[in-house]
Parts: sequence; structure tokens; C-alpha cells
Amino acid sequence: MSDALKERKEKLFYDHKNGYDRLTAADEAAMADYCQGYMAFLQRGKTERLCVAQAVALAQAAGFKPFTRGMALTAGDKVYTVNRGKSVMLAVMGRESLRQGCQITASHIDSPRLDVKPSPLYEDSELAYLKTHYYGGIRKYQWVTIPLAIYGVVALKDGTVREVALGEGSEPKFVVTDLLPHLGAEQGKKPLNEAIPAENLNILLGSRPVEGEGSDRVKLTVMEKLHEKYGIVEEDFISAELEVVPAMDVTAIGLDGSMIGGYGHDDRVCGYAALRALLDLDTVPEKTAVCMLADKEEIGSMGVTGMQSACFDTFMEDLCAAQGVALRECYEKAFCLSTDVTAAFDPNFSEVYEKKNAAYLNYGVGLCKYTGARGKSGSSDAGAETVAYVRRVLDDYGVMWQMAELGKTDVGGGGTVAQYMANRNITTLDAGVPVLSMHAPFEVVSKLDCYMTYKGCKAVYLAK
Ligand code: MN
Ligand code: MN
Repeated sequence: MSDALKERKEKLFYDHKNGYDRLTAADEAAMADYCQGYMAFLQRGKTERLCVAQAVALAQAAGFKPFTRGMALTAGDKVYTVNRGKSVMLAVMGRESLRQGCQITASHIDSPRLDVKPSPLYEDSELAYLKTHYYGGIRKYQWVTIPLAIYGVVALKDGTVREVALGEGSEPKFVVTDLLPHLGAEQGKKPLNEAIPAENLNILLGSRPVEGEGSDRVKLTVMEKLHEKYGIVEEDFISAELEVVPAMDVTAIGLDGSMIGGYGHDDRVCGYAALRALLDLDTVPEKTAVCMLADKEEIGSMGVTGMQSACFDTFMEDLCAAQGVALRECYEKAFCLSTDVTAAFDPNFSEVYEKKNAAYLNYGVGLCKYTGARGKSGSSDAGAETVAYVRRVLDDYGVMWQMAELGKTDVGGGGTVAQYMANRNITTLDAGVPVLSMHAPFEVVSKLDCYMTYKGCKAVYLAK
């Protein structure tokens, strides 16, 4: 190719290079550090409650104080509020009034899993089981024959709450069994989505009967162990929130260690990025920076701890009140980066992606103008000016980014909290880490993309 032609192409064509061909030495060092912190967070953050607890501990260590209504707030003040233990909102007060808007990131810290039913415990053929009801979009066949752990709370009638953690570290784990191939011929003919019925997702809890005669002796073993450990009786399952999650450790993936495998990247990988970026702000931002870690995104952002809940508006209204600003004035000038994961192009399944608009591993944080399904149904579809604004903010801060669409048109679709922020009259754009095997018990992301998402959140907080 002649130099002149090359020049003309370089001038006009969109250049799309692997992030590793552009990574600076400084970013490479910071990336390793950052990813270590994220892996530790993900390892412990098996539920939304455990993510909130970690977020609060990290925030307090960074000088954040619990927000109380009526509190005086000045530039540089760092505050947070926890919503019912399952969602958390944090803010660093900016130099400008909230009348000029604020810079928000919104991600979610709930992940697909198996929830324990209210009346779960039974014995069948001298084996004890817990019945579950899956939460979020899972592919049921992926949840059998893998080690599982149980985390959550049991709320007793007297108001005390027992924290449950079963299957940690070297403790015994749990499992959902599956058929052996020798007897699985009929099952094997079924479509993937039907081979494992939801009501088969029963957790194997024990096999050793207590001494004596009669029925339910294994169930008694199990119940006695639970009583000994947590002081609970069978009826207490009724007011429990127990989440069965994969017990695999978070680990580096690949000979080059360039990726991270673990449970719950969706969307703790963005939640941690947004949180860490806020905690790491070393200058007082021009506008108030707000980090929202929401619950219940995987089931439609419903409920009192979801993004549709007024809890976010209440927090923001309280911040605005401290400055005599109306919430609506703040919202109409605010910007929100809805930080949620997107599908990474998977060459094993290239047929469901559209190559020109898919997100790729190691190309940076994926910006998603619209999510939704079919004709963008259920998407907030950000405006061109909004995308241009984010391009500028990210480029100015040296963040690697790419455009992302969740699969081919008409193949599938998805949603995030973006629409619920946009509905509040907040200018919003989706952006997040591309994930391989999203919603599987063990998802994969690239370290470079994790770090660039963190950097992108920081850029948004510091932007004007
Ligand atoms: Mn998500
Ligand atoms: Mn999801």
C-alpha cells in the first residue's frame, strides 16, 4: 500500500487496536494492583449483603461517614447510606452546587444464584435436601455437579438476625447431582433448557442418620447441626434469605494470567470499579460524585432495594436539601454511567454475535448506546450527544473503550438499570466490562477491561 493511501485511510477510518498494543507501563502496573484488589473483593462478595459490608468497610477506611438527614455538607465531604443491608449509595461532595447536577455511576451487586425456598428442608431415600428457587437468568444445566456454598441471613421472630456462611474455605460444600451418562440417554435428547427442571435444583445437604429408629433421621442430623451453629429451628427458614452460590475460588485464567475467572462478575466487576474509583478520588471533584450499588437488577430492578426504588431519590433529595436545591434541578443536569457488564465476543459461538458491533476482550470498557431486545425494546437508547460526551471524557482521561452491542439483532437481548436512571430525567449511558459465559457459575473477564472500567468511572466522577 502506498504511503499516501495509508495516510488517507488513517485519517478517515476508525482504528481499532487490541488494548495490549496501547497499554502504557504505568497503566500495566496499576492494572495488576487494581485486579488483585478486585479479586479479593469478588472472593468475599458472594452475595449483595456481603458486597455491601465490604463496600462500607472500604469506604470507612477511605474516610467516608454515614450520612444522616440534615447533616451539613461541604465540598470534599464523603458520605454513604446503606439501604436495608443490600444496596449502598456513596457520594463525594463536589465544589459546585448540586444545582449544576452530579456525576453518577450505577451498577448492581446481586448476581444469578439459587435461593433457598421458605419451606426447603426434606429427606428423600435417607438423603437430606434443600429446595431452591433460582434467582435471575440462569442456565440450569450449569448449576449441577459443581461445589456450592450457602450464604445469607436467618431473621428470627425476636428481631435478631443470624448470619449464615456454610461451605467456606475447607468446610464441607454442597452440590446438586445429575444423571450419569449410562442412564442419561433420554435426558440427553432434551433441549439444554429442559434437561434440568427447576424443581430438580435440590441441594444435597447430608446423608448420615442420627442413631435410633424411625423416619427423617438424616433431616434431623442436618437440623441439629444448623441448630448448634445458628440456634435456628426448621420454622426459621420461613424468614431466611439464603443464597446458594458456586464455591469455586476466584482465580487468574490463562497461561498469561490475563483474565479472571469467578462467580458474580456480573455485575460486581463494575460495582467494584465504580466503588474503588470513588474511594480513590484524590482531588475534590468539580461536581458531586455519586456511586450507586443496587440490588435486584437480575430480576428487573424491582423491590425496595432495586434501582426502581425511591431509596435513591430519597438519598439524592437529602443531599440536595443540604444545599437548598430541588432534586429535579439536580437530576436534569446530572449524568449517569450505568455500569453493567456486556457480552464479550466468543469465537466458540460466533453465530450469535455481530462482529462489527460486538465487544471484545482486551479492548476496554464497552459502551452500550442501547440494550433491549428486538427493536431496542426495553432500552433507554442514549442520545448521540451523550455518547459523544462520554467519548470525550474517556479519551481525555486515557481510558480504552469500545462500542458494544449485546449479540446480533433479534437473537436475544438484555437490560440494565440504565432505563430507570433515564426515567428519572438523568442523562444516562450504559458501559461495562465484556464477560465470557455471562450468568454462568464461573464467568470470565479480562484484567485490562476491568482496569479500564475503573479508570472510566474515575473519569466520569472527575468530568464536568
Ligand atoms: Mn448485570
Ligand atoms: Mn445479569
